[in-house]
Amino acid sequence: MKKVFPIKGAVQNYAWGGKEFIPKLMGVQNSDDQPFAEIWLGAHQRGPAMLRMDGKDISLKDFLEKNPNVLGEKVIKQFGKTLPYLFKVLDVNQMLSIQTHPTKEAAVKGYYSEEKTGIPITAFDRNYKDDNHKPEVMVALTEFWLLHGFKSLEAIEEVLKSVPEFKMLLEYYQRILQKEVDNKLFHFYKNLMEMSQKMVDEILQPLAERLSLDFVVGKISKSSPDYWAALAFRDNMLEGGHFDRGIFSIYIFNLVCLQRGEGIFQDAGIPHAYLEGVNMELMANSDNVFRGGLTVKHVDVKELLEHMVFEQVTPNILTGTEIERGVKVYKTSAPDFELTRILLKDFQAYNCTEAKSPETLIVMQGEVIVQSGKEEFRLERGGAFFASSGSEYTLVSDGTSEVFKAAVP
Ligand SMILES: [Zn+2]
Repeated sequence: MKKVFPIKGAVQNYAWGGKEFIPKLMGVQNSDDQPFAEIWLGAHQRGPAMLRMDGKDISLKDFLEKNPNVLGEKVIKQFGKTLPYLFKVLDVNQMLSIQTHPTKEAAVKGYYSEEKTGIPITAFDRNYKDDNHKPEVMVALTEFWLLHGFKSLEAIEEVLKSVPEFKMLLEYYQRILQKEVDNKLFHFYKNLMEMSQKMVDEILQPLAERLSLDFVVGKISKSSPDYWAALAFRDNMLEGGHFDRGIFSIYIFNLVCLQRGEGIFQDAGIPHAYLEGVNMELMANSDNVFRGGLTVKHVDVKELLEHMVFEQVTPNILTGTEIERGVKVYKTSAPDFELTRILLKDFQAYNCTEAKSPETLIVMQGEVIVQSGKEEFRLERGGAFFASSGSEYTLVSDGTSEVFKAAVP
């Protein structure tokens, strides 16, 4: 079945989501003021997209189970009879947890060992939801702020010096720098994550008080970690008046601001947290997350430390490689997915003569006419479709349109 099908994504109403961008994109009213955090355009069981076929709706998951041939031989051989990627639109209004994801090897090991112990897959303290890795690439649709990887050893020292409330931490850090230890970042971070709650509160209480004053008068810019710490103090107070040690991470990870069209790749082990903005995100089909704070979800420090890469990271901002006019690929090392941005101007067409893998496309600006064989349909902004492996299709726009495509490289 070498065809294309209109699809509709599944909305996830997580509390951190914005209330306008996604409802507007999907053309729905948000009259009860719900947070719309994510649209999932995939076959994941927690929110499969709906596919339109012969005038009826069927979930993409069921459709792929009934018609695995649309995945193509190559994908089935490499990943099994399932879509290897999960494609999303995210609208981050409140910062997400600090997290990292396992390698494929670690995920297989962890998943089957948890299966053996009998922890239900839905349990609060279950770490491995599946046996897959979860590398992620994303492209910003608005100015997008995130934390990504450890700062350099020198930059961490600088930032600790800039915060008077961290005097004790700075002294401890400087002692580590002078020590002959294998991995200084590991020692420092482990200590932060295992510090007593009493000490965490003692350090963060005065910082919270000072920042809340500054924050109220709007003195702090977003390029300062103080801004995000102030937000976290406002939004993430733990029950019982305790402070969240995830706040330390805001200072020791790189604070990155992506402009529209810029992207970044998060491979296994890279600590990260999304802070604010709208993006397109493409990841391996997995839900394996280890969290290190700024969340009410399960935090497992032991697992987090085991799977985190304790290396200084210089954020590699992806601007995309232009492969034809208006078409940019955001290349990564992940074998599971590839993200492409297609810009169409003035009746310019995008021709796909044979999809090399199962593809998912979504219109993020303008309107697009999709032609495939005898079929033709119009997609407005927010409209999406699934193209079977081997299908041919053409996209035409009469104005300026922006389309994002997920595929397997
Ligand atoms: Zn992540």
